[in-house]
Amino acid sequence: MTAFTTFEKVAVLGTGVLGSQIIMQAAYHGKEVYAYDAVEDALEALPQRWEWIRAGYKEDLGEGYDAQRFDEAIERIHPTSDLAEAVGDADIVIEAVPENLDLKKKVWAEIGEKAADKTLFATNTSSLLPSDFADASGHPEKFVTLHYANRVWSRNTAEVMGTDKSSQEAIDGALQYAEETGMVPVHVRKEVPGYLLNSLSIPWLSAAAALYVNGVANPEEIDRTWRIATGNDHGPFQAFDLVGFGVASNIHRNSGDPVQVKFADMLQESIDAGHSGVADGQGFYTYDSDGNQTGVVKDWELDEQ
Ligand code: NAD
Repeated sequence: MTAFTTFEKVAVLGTGVLGSQIIMQAAYHGKEVYAYDAVEDALEALPQRWEWIRAGYKEDLGEGYDAQRFDEAIERIHPTSDLAEAVGDADIVIEAVPENLDLKKKVWAEIGEKAADKTLFATNTSSLLPSDFADASGHPEKFVTLHYANRVWSRNTAEVMGTDKSSQEAIDGALQYAEETGMVPVHVRKEVPGYLLNSLSIPWLSAAAALYVNGVANPEEIDRTWRIATGNDHGPFQAFDLVGFGVASNIHRNSGDPVQVKFADMLQESIDAGHSGVADGQGFYTYDSDGNQTGVVKDWELDEQ
């Protein structure tokens, strides 16, 4: 069985909300990173992503943020729309494409054909089971999850979960990679949808969505109640903005529950209008270019009764 112990070249597939953060976290920790996306516009948007992420590093890392190190990290990132170039010589491939099972299977089949024997395979899926698409890669023995939380640099858990077919070497390799890139490795010992983090947070987000869809309270009222009563600094709708409506709408739609599907439809309408959360400046709230909340979006408010 291959031991995965050297991680110099990293390929990240999907350069959206999470992919861009995973890319920067790797580059900031000295890795050479190939940033692959199937959508040219996503690659062109990367310079703006770096500035948004830079603001986050500055805000959250204090003395851990080093402007020169950040600039050098950008130099180590190679955006590409050529999959073979991205994965051909990678030590690890981390997949962060949209949360859709058919798409994940298709992408992993392509990776499986183009990657070398030495390459460790990792998916950042939020809510799917890795065993549902590990086989598509042709190498389920070296397929694990490496699940990041949004604001990768500071909320820096990396949940490593194998399937029945994952080798111990693959799990150890992913834990090592997490450690090398400034993450807190978490070994999830049994395959469950949602790991530790999302097993806790998805029911919370779904409860908030149901309160809103059922006309019980406005997003801002739900958030305010949660913040005041629990002492947390953000409520569920602020979390939706941070997570991004793309991934949130997929998760709520995949649940199959009619109330959650209705919420997913509302999120999709907002995405279609160009508003998908903090990353583009508007979700349930508005944001400035540094991601600071500036106001509430009145369109989300329930009609007065
Ligand atoms: P996103 O929609 O922001 O980004 C997805 C990116 O994938 C886009 O840039 C898109 O152009 C690209 N893409 C689409 N098809 C592709 C293909 N065939 N090949 C390569 N790239 C392709 O989504 P996201 O929020 O970054 O989520 C990505 C994955 O990470 C999902 O599995 C999601 O569940 C998971 N995740 C997201 C969060 C979060 O907070 N957003 C947290 C943890 C895990």
